[in-house]
Amino acid sequence: MTAEVETTLRGPAAFTLARQALEAMESAGVWPTPLNFELWLHYLGEPDSPLGKEMKRLLDAGTPFTEDISEMLLAEYLPRGRLNDEIRDAGVVLNRELNTVAEVIAEARSSQAAYGETLAGAGAAMETPLEPGDLKRLVGDLTTATSRIHRENASLEKRLEASTSEVARLREHLEQVRRDAMTDALTNLANRKAFDEEMTRACEAAQQRKAPLTLAILDIDNFKKFNDTWGHQTGDQVLRYVASVLGRTLRAPRVAARYGGEEFAMLFPGETAPMVEAVLNSIREEIGSRSLKRRSTNDDLGAVTVSIGLAQKQGDESALTLMGRADEALYASKRAGRNRVTSAQKLATAA
Ligand code: C2E
Repeated sequence: MTAEVETTLRGPAAFTLARQALEAMESAGVWPTPLNFELWLHYLGEPDSPLGKEMKRLLDAGTPFTEDISEMLLAEYLPRGRLNDEIRDAGVVLNRELNTVAEVIAEARSSQAAYGETLAGAGAAMETPLEPGDLKRLVGDLTTATSRIHRENASLEKRLEASTSEVARLREHLEQVRRDAMTDALTNLANRKAFDEEMTRACEAAQQRKAPLTLAILDIDNFKKFNDTWGHQTGDQVLRYVASVLGRTLRAPRVAARYGGEEFAMLFPGETAPMVEAVLNSIREEIGSRSLKRRSTNDDLGAVTVSIGLAQKQGDESALTLMGRADEALYASKRAGRNRVTSAQKLATAA
């Protein structure tokens, strides 16, 4: 939950907002699950936030709010809740393991000190001539002390090993949580949050190295009609199909992400618009080359086409402006009849 909505929910408008959220969910035909309730509180409480805008776009497009979509929105726009819990739990485990390590070190120190004292005592005793009986006892004491310290060391080593593997397991788990927070659950591509971060990094790197950087936005043609005709489950498969072509074709340092709804974004570091345009055209052709089948009924779904817009970063242009130009190019592709690639540079020259 964002700070702004949290504040509203503890203020005079709290119950009005909560009631509005329930009413809005009812009129949109959405179940009032805790997850949807949280989404609708944001939608109504912060309509201009990225989540608010995306929800408006989905609702305007008539996209059914499936569990999948709600989960995706929550993961993309409000992932901190889950992440915070995971980080808090990790903190507890880490604290426990650090305590164990500190204890092990303290115990190792004290058993070494005790052993040192036994050795020093034996050394002092041997300064004076010893009777054979005393010598035998001394050697016996030393043997006992040595085996005790061996045992203690072995047990401390075991505890250290257990702590080390617990910390390694924790690190792996946190890495998985971090990856999940950056991945779109339906398509397995990077999500919008990951893409935005990557885009900021790529813009900075392109500026520093004076290297080209091209951004492309892809939108599935007539996706809403497709969803309405065949149902959202088939719609989800189409999203997965398009994502699989992008994922197969684009290898690092290129980046492909599901940007929201049926929109995908791609980054091509070090590549100019004409180079990228050719790649995008082959992606567009490949996507449209296959006639898809509806898995449940075997109905022929026909081919899926996509429209794409691309723009190459100009000088110190911001990520936002670059995105705006690629978006304009995408809409030019749509206006010109869909199933095509339009470059912002060419669009500007034509104008
Ligand atoms: P998925 O259903 O999980 O399939 C994953 C991959 O398994 C597919 O990758 C494909 O390599 C293989 N595969 C699964 N089912 C079949 C099949 O009936 N025939 C053949 N020849 N291969 C199959 P691919 O092609 O990249 O597709 C990725 C995802 O795109 C699929 O995930 C599915 O969600 C969607 N998709 C692709 N083609 C179709 C289709 O014709 N109809 C539907 N409904 N979805 C499709």
